Amino acid sequence: MSYTMQDLEKFLEYLARNNYWFLSTQELYDYFIDRNRDIPQEYLGKKPIMLSFDDSYKTVYTNIIPVLERLEKEFKQKIKIVLFVNPGTLAKIHHPSTTYLSCEDLRAGFAKGFYDIQSHGENHKDLAKITVSELNQELAQAQIELRECLAGLAAPQEIARHIAYPYGSMNHQVETYAAKYYQSGYLYNSTILRFRWLQDKYRISRLTVNRAKSPERLIQMATRSFTISK
Ligand SMILES: [Zn+2]
Repeated sequence: MSYTMQDLEKFLEYLARNNYWFLSTQELYDYFIDRNRDIPQEYLGKKPIMLSFDDSYKTVYTNIIPVLERLEKEFKQKIKIVLFVNPGTLAKIHHPSTTYLSCEDLRAGFAKGFYDIQSHGENHKDLAKITVSELNQELAQAQIELRECLAGLAAPQEIARHIAYPYGSMNHQVETYAAKYYQSGYLYNSTILRFRWLQDKYRISRLTVNRAKSPERLIQMATRSFTISK
């Protein structure tokens, strides 16, 4: 969250105004990776984009939800964002935090329809540098806890079905174990995803956003992305 809220808001407003298709992890998987479903009529002619936020920071609730609510009102456009969450760092009742989200925050953002809640491992460990049993634990426990947190609001398969590897760190072993629990895996490699080049659904590229990328630059990149043909 090194990006300022004003800059982020500028970018989000541009996307809302211009009718982008805000992809969830499951939509990306179904329509562009597995291609098991036809793209619905309503998305034809739009540009797809996925906005993802890692590491469970509280600001994703306190700062971003009010902006998403304003944009929804103003542009009749719901922006959905993907959160890759480490349940191990979530604020707990006996461990309150102003830095990290709580399960209640996740439930509230999900209930409002803004959050797609996915896994970032249990404790943000480097998955390529731990033992097999720790790896299994990091992958499985995150899924269990996130699904427990959203119980009653979401079907289990809507939550933590996809993972973003902490630090983008992975290898063949991580991929093999990730595939036991998750349908797809996201990197942190500052590369735009080009579907034609996607070789491996456990190595989905993501563009890293930091202060070096002005909102104007992000907008320029977004306008250049492909449009779903009619
Ligand atoms: Zn992270």
